[in-house]
Amino acid sequence: MQDNIKIYDMVIIGGGINGTGIAADAAGRGLSVYLCEKDDLANHTSSASSKLIHGGLRYLEHKAFRLVREALAEREVLLNKAPHLIKAMRFILPHRPHLRPAWLIRTGLFFYDHLGKRKKLAESRFISLANAESPLKAEITQGFEYSDCTVDDSRLVVLNAMQAREKGADIQTRTRCIAAQREADYWLIKLENQQGIFQIKAKALVNAAGAWVAQFIQTQLKLQSPYKMRLIQGSHIIVPRLQQDDRAFILQNEDQRIVFVIPYLDQYSLIGTTDREYSADPANVVISHQEIDYLLKVSNDHFKTQLNRTDIISCYSGVRPLYDDASDNPSTITRDYILALSSEQQLPLLSVFGGKITTYRKLAEAALEQLQVFFPKMTGAWTATEVLPGAENLNHLEDLVFEIQHQIADVPLQLAQRWANAYGTRVWRMLNQANSLHDLGHDFGHGLYAKEVDYLVEVEWGMCSDDILWRRSKLGLLFSQSEIANLDEYLVKLQRLRAREDAA
Ligand SMILES: Cc1cc2nc3c(=O)[nH]c(=O)nc-3n(C[C@H](O)[C@H](O)[C@H](O)COP(=O)(O)OP(=O)(O)OC[C@H]3O[C@@H](n4cnc5c(N)ncnc54)[C@H](O)[C@@H]3O)c2cc1C
Repeated sequence: MQDNIKIYDMVIIGGGINGTGIAADAAGRGLSVYLCEKDDLANHTSSASSKLIHGGLRYLEHKAFRLVREALAEREVLLNKAPHLIKAMRFILPHRPHLRPAWLIRTGLFFYDHLGKRKKLAESRFISLANAESPLKAEITQGFEYSDCTVDDSRLVVLNAMQAREKGADIQTRTRCIAAQREADYWLIKLENQQGIFQIKAKALVNAAGAWVAQFIQTQLKLQSPYKMRLIQGSHIIVPRLQQDDRAFILQNEDQRIVFVIPYLDQYSLIGTTDREYSADPANVVISHQEIDYLLKVSNDHFKTQLNRTDIISCYSGVRPLYDDASDNPSTITRDYILALSSEQQLPLLSVFGGKITTYRKLAEAALEQLQVFFPKMTGAWTATEVLPGAENLNHLEDLVFEIQHQIADVPLQLAQRWANAYGTRVWRMLNQANSLHDLGHDFGHGLYAKEVDYLVEVEWGMCSDDILWRRSKLGLLFSQSEIANLDEYLVKLQRLRAREDAA
């Protein structure tokens, strides 16, 4: 066993949005932080969301005013923190006879407009849909339009991990926590990675294991979980673009459930989500035939373009780890978060139950506020105003695209746009003095060059093709099996080289 076991102020279990958000916040307040993720960053729920930064219009109906107010206000905070990843979007809510009366929807939207601070996002309005250009069926003649935002969810996680590292945190992926216990003065934490088993110590342990939060308390800590979890599966399908412009649709089905149809990347629409109880291993969640049929039916009930299974380009599923409020309907279980703190022997354990991508920053602030008493020297909240990596000196994304085209003369516009959206001003670090596509090295297909792959491995914890094609980018939608095999072969060589360099 190790002689010198390293001691951290805080060890965080889980590299989803909540773990990385807490890691960035804590490191920025001067704590020494270690985060372990058993798989890749955002490998689970944090890459399987509807990709919305939203107040949650339907949570108003459930009277979740605290959550909605906090989430609404976060939209503009996050827009400023990462304008390359987070974009304002208009949402169309078609009005159909089975819905609430128009005056009631108008009142709900009035609250939505005014409950949180709003400077950049336009207010809601009534719209006519009785025109030939509307992609909706002719009988849908009117509706409402309001604002929310979309986000590249998995990249938001990576940016938080990068910010945490830049503030001094140690972030380790493919590293599982297999046990932890309170010793006399520290948590003793046992971890396992490809090299074997090792231990670290911490003054505070944060359990941000998402769908595994309760299981982690019982199995790894051998303690009793203070709350029960409900795992609710949600699935999405990706189809060819249904809308002509860049507005999303929020469709309310006759069963009162809501389905979004969101413009996705350049040529697709993302349709989701479902809500169903889930009890198997969260790592193995996959879309069911019933969910596919449900999503297709809701879309076909509204849109002129009729879809069937063969139109589906891709799909994904995730589980919402929700705090069990004993609700009998999966759609109405609270989306709010609960932080459970136990502080036996002055060695805190803070567990995160529930939450949303939208509220991760506020959740992290609330977590650190609860832990402040154990770290009296810790500095105050800072994340509301400091931008995330890539948003430094970023004024207008179009200007950045123009500058990229100026630097790399032969770059196609679409590729310059993809880089600007993904990396913001960190694109210069990725391009690393390149002046032409030739300087970027081998082309793995669809505009993925060796230089970008190297950057994703060196800077963004990318290790295998899935990390790069599904979580650092969405190029997986375009890559063939043989292109994936080529990329994997290159990554294996790169990892070997890095291992040799580390050993030397
Ligand atoms: C279908 C769906 C749609 C959604 N849509 C939205 C939306 O549009 N907007 C929004 O704001 N929110 C949305 N959400 C909610 C949001 O996605 C989640 O609340 C959020 O991603 C949860 O993040 P997390 O960090 O808690 O969990 P996760 O992302 O699951 O991260 C937890 C991590 O802990 C790791 N882990 C577990 N055990 C261990 C261990 N022993 N050692 C090391 N690591 C471990 C796991 O591998 C995992 O990566 C949606 C959720 C779903 C399922």
